[in-house]
Amino acid sequence: MSESINLNCPFCNKETRPTDTFCPTCGKKLPDKNLPFSTAQKIKIYLISVVLAPLGLYWFVKYFRNENSDKRKTAFIALYLTLFTLTTLTIISYYYVKQLNTYMESYDFSGLGL
Ligand SMILES: [Zn+2]
Repeated sequence: MSESINLNCPFCNKETRPTDTFCPTCGKKLPDKNLPFSTAQKIKIYLISVVLAPLGLYWFVKYFRNENSDKRKTAFIALYLTLFTLTTLTIISYYYVKQLNTYMESYDFSGLGL
């Protein structure tokens, strides 16, 4: 991977650290350096994509066109996880409803005067 991150302040051209939000020399706010997600951030995104499935789409929409290829990859994995979870939930509820229907049909309600 060859992501080039400009470490020089665009205002005074002095060197800054990747973690700096503000330039240590002139104090101006530095532009978003678009750092790749940390492993902890990725795990959080993936977990939320699974546990709170529709929310995974948030990261997909936000990052799928990001210039950082690692962020794009994370966005697509979040999308796949979300779709996978939603599909699984749909299949499970389909069979659950089907089973419930079979149970209801086999039950004789005539004794209740329905
Ligand atoms: Zn500066």
